[in-house]
Amino acid sequence: MSVARLSTAGRKILADVPTRIAVLAGVGWLICYAILTVLSEDNPSRAKFVGDVLYLLPIAAGAIAAAVAARRLTGRHRALWRLLAIAYGAQLAGELIWTGYDYLTPSGPPDPSFADVCYLTASVVTVAAVLVGFGGGGRLRQLRGLLDTLLLIASAGAMGWQILIRPQLSDGMALSNLFTVAYPLLDIALICCLGIVGIGGHRQLPLSVRLVGYAGGLNAISDMLYTYQLVFSTYASGSWVDVAFEASATCSFVAAVVAIRFREPAARRRTFDRGFTVLPVLTATLASCTLVVVERVTSGTTSVLTLIIVGVLILAMLTRQYLFAADRASLATELRHAVQEQQRLAVTDGLTGLHNRRFLTERMAAEAGSAPDGHPVSLLVIDLDHFKTVNDTYGHPVGDVVLRESAGRIAAVCRTDDVVARYGGEEFVVFCPAADESQARALAERIRQSITGTPIVAGGTRIPVSASIGVATRPAGAADSLMTAADQALYRAKTTGRDRVAVAAAG
Ligand code: GH3
Ligand code: MG
Ligand code: MG
Repeated sequence: MSVARLSTAGRKILADVPTRIAVLAGVGWLICYAILTVLSEDNPSRAKFVGDVLYLLPIAAGAIAAAVAARRLTGRHRALWRLLAIAYGAQLAGELIWTGYDYLTPSGPPDPSFADVCYLTASVVTVAAVLVGFGGGGRLRQLRGLLDTLLLIASAGAMGWQILIRPQLSDGMALSNLFTVAYPLLDIALICCLGIVGIGGHRQLPLSVRLVGYAGGLNAISDMLYTYQLVFSTYASGSWVDVAFEASATCSFVAAVVAIRFREPAARRRTFDRGFTVLPVLTATLASCTLVVVERVTSGTTSVLTLIIVGVLILAMLTRQYLFAADRASLATELRHAVQEQQRLAVTDGLTGLHNRRFLTERMAAEAGSAPDGHPVSLLVIDLDHFKTVNDTYGHPVGDVVLRESAGRIAAVCRTDDVVARYGGEEFVVFCPAADESQARALAERIRQSITGTPIVAGGTRIPVSASIGVATRPAGAADSLMTAADQALYRAKTTGRDRVAVAAAG
């Protein structure tokens, strides 16, 4: 994160009093907890109280704040916070069960216990929350994110199975081993999810979502440390790894408070995400090779199970590559449509939807260059009469309605070959690439009548509107002088009484 973004986030937090209190309370708590951990090092009963009871506070605060956020927010944020409320709730339930066992049973929690089920539920739901809530990259990208995550879990799981669990199978498979492997696998899943679906798929993540990400990442890393300690039998309540868990819970709590207080807009999508293409494919390839090689070396054969696992991994890799290509193709289509829309807007008048002056000039130049030399081309310049008075009397917005309606009436009586444009202000131009003078005059008269004939209803009143029109016809080779000639004719129409058509003399 850049210094500028950090300071923006910092300023944002400090500007809101409840959020400021939540952050200060969180930081204060972490300092207290660290001090208590130091003070309890030589006192097992105090360490137990700190690690089992006080430890629950930020987790409970996070779960409650997440539930409030889920109730108050809407849309994608609500989906995210509902899942997070479930995840944090499951985590809290797991901790309560653990504490109950620790205090009420002489031998402490069994391994595995129902607390493990709660912890695993929390991890799985957090992964789902990241996929659903961080999403925003379209279904195809979410699906690819999910597949990438599954591919990584399956690959890491397959390697873990082959290297760690299989050798122990001879003396009976312990259920606790499965849990021991499941924790880091889900941590890998969470970190991958955060990378692939979350951070990789967005141009800008809301602060609350970023904090959820940091909390998840911190939790996953702490969990790996915890698993390491567990495997080497050095973990006990009140350990330093608990401080890291507390920091993660505090971060989740602050994230929920930020989400409730700031009602941030959903994450904005990155047009081309970073893809993280290599990581899942590389891991799956590595896993496939490891499975076959380790088995060959240890048992001299390749079992059917190994072949099935390798086959599934290859199939998953092919599927994610297909999804990756499909995602790119859909992005390319989106970009093409966006470019087309930009091109349309560049030649369209925003108020009336007619062509703009740029389009008219280009078409006139193109037509003059391609039409046979003697072929007549005509131009009509239409100017609404006393339009300033309409604005002054009824206001600018009503003036806009009159302009739109007049544009519609002009376009309605023109032919499809004619180019109808708003030249500027209350002036319109019709370029007729296939009209001689009498046809152009007739068209101008039809336009004048369509405008004058019926008052325009705008702002609750009927407003009589009239237009003066200058017409000029020239051979295609002399189209350059059309505008000046039509303008002069318009000036004549204005000075001789308005609401009329004047035709320029042949040039
Ligand atoms: P004349 O009969 O001589 O053409 O008089 P006029 O009042 O129509 O001409 P003038 O050039 O004095 O005024 C044109 C007005 O058109 C002034 C300007 O405020 C108004 N106008 C220009 N563009 C827009 C627009 O986009 N919306 C609205 N409502 N008014 C506009
Ligand atoms: Mg004018
Ligand atoms: Mg005018």
